[in-house]
Amino acid sequence: MKVSIDMDACVGCGLCEGDCPDVFEMDGDKAKCKMTDVPANIQKSCKEAAANCPQEAIKFA
Ligand code: SF4
Repeated sequence: MKVSIDMDACVGCGLCEGDCPDVFEMDGDKAKCKMTDVPANIQKSCKEAAANCPQEAIKFA
């Protein structure tokens, strides 16, 4: 499972970092992905972060 953030949509609320700090971290006023390929053991929390993102900025492929 690959993950990315739509940087135009992200408003830097920080929720994703709280939900899944293994994958997301804040970088100034935006979030960034610490990895693009999400290992199976953290996919659940990564999907929760996507579901909770107010901007629907977290995308999977
Ligand atoms: S939850 Fe969404 S809007 Fe908030 S920092 Fe993360 S990617 Fe950006």
